[in-house]
Amino acid sequence: MTIEKNIQEILEALEPGAARLQKTPHRVAKSYEELFRGYAQSPRQLVGEALYEAPASEMVVLRAIPFTSMCEHHMLPIVGHAYVGYVPNEKIIGASKLARLVDCFANRLHLQERLTVNIVRALDEILKPAGAATSIVAEHFCISQRGVKKNEAQLVTRHFSGVFCSDRALREEFLRTCHL
Ligand SMILES: [Zn+2]
Repeated sequence: MTIEKNIQEILEALEPGAARLQKTPHRVAKSYEELFRGYAQSPRQLVGEALYEAPASEMVVLRAIPFTSMCEHHMLPIVGHAYVGYVPNEKIIGASKLARLVDCFANRLHLQERLTVNIVRALDEILKPAGAATSIVAEHFCISQRGVKKNEAQLVTRHFSGVFCSDRALREEFLRTCHL
């Protein structure tokens, strides 16, 4: 209700008394529930039981996971792809859960830099791999549609943990695998 009420005030400031916008605050509030559903989710719950014993010791990567988020400075969309990988320790994680982890954080107000770190940290906490890595490439509407107005400029961010920090060749292999 708070969101609905506040959207109503924004609309009133933009177009006072516009009858055709009467139902818009309710629609916006409903769409926010969906866009920001990540606040109601916990990464650990999302992953649930989807951790499996496996002999794998080579890097596992889910490439080009499409996502949308909202920048916390302007509340404008961030649209891009996340690349998430890890080197298993004793367990592997259900591959679709990597995509769910991305969404769980992306469906909140965010900065791309922090989003990148959040994904690696969640993997470290839940899966305890030998190392985790995330690379994100995304367009920000606050860069393309306002301010400097640079269409199609992409922000690239990366974060690594464990063996990815100590092993430069592994880091490079991850980036090659992602961005081939
Ligand atoms: Zn922004």
